[in-house]
Amino acid sequence: MRLRLLQEERDHQFQLEYLSRRSDLAVAFNILLLICFLLAVSLAWSLWRINIARRQEALEDPLTGLKNRRFLVPFMDHETERLRRSGYASLILLVDIDLFKTVNDRFGHEVGDEALVQLSEGLRHCVRNSDVITRWGGEEFVIVCTQSSKAQAEVICNRIRHYLQRTPMRSRDGSTFHLTVSIGATLFSPVICDEHWEDALARADRALYSVKDNGRDNWLLAPIVPDNIKRNLAIR
Ligand code: GH3
Ligand code: MG
Ligand code: MG
Repeated sequence: MRLRLLQEERDHQFQLEYLSRRSDLAVAFNILLLICFLLAVSLAWSLWRINIARRQEALEDPLTGLKNRRFLVPFMDHETERLRRSGYASLILLVDIDLFKTVNDRFGHEVGDEALVQLSEGLRHCVRNSDVITRWGGEEFVIVCTQSSKAQAEVICNRIRHYLQRTPMRSRDGSTFHLTVSIGATLFSPVICDEHWEDALARADRALYSVKDNGRDNWLLAPIVPDNIKRNLAIR
């Protein structure tokens, strides 16, 4: 009888031990699951952030940190819709550095690069935070001043030119030089004139080349031709 009781007690203890080991294992397994889950979440978070950073980089010019052409195209498509709804106009400025090739030839490509960075910084100070500056390519920049006017063109173009007049660029040997720019400007309003923003940019480009032909270091506003004037011209 005692032996049977002893045996039962041993069996009971064995069961308790077995159950306690099983619950230890379950806890360890749950902790492992939790660690795997946290690792998966942190991996997904890092991948998401890398993806965002890559997308951001793809829309930025690596030298100047300004937005690039890839950014401007969808931005302007979106801006067109906004202007159509609001009835406002945006000002497009095409800024081209004058005789920049001679800067590279005289001071070297690195100094040219630094001048591009310095000019980009200067452009940021000449426009509103809501305006968009892009490096369109090489030594050309496109500035879009949202909800703007003809009068604003004069203000911004003169601000840029005065900034360059009072801000010398530095070469490696410490000597300084000044940049000048030519600017072609136009208004873009899809309500006044039913055109694509690229047509407005082409108009700014023609104004820019007119400034170049007339001695550079200046700006010109190409007038927008409203649709009703176009229609009247066509009737006559
Ligand atoms: P213009 O007044 O007629 O515009 O003369 P320009 O010399 O500025 O124009 P051109 O088109 O003849 O030459 C553009 C120069 O811009 C040549 C090219 O080496 C330089 N350039 C373009 N991109 C860069 C860049 O990223 N870094 C440097 N350092 N130079 C660049
Ligand atoms: Mg140039
Ligand atoms: Mg150019």
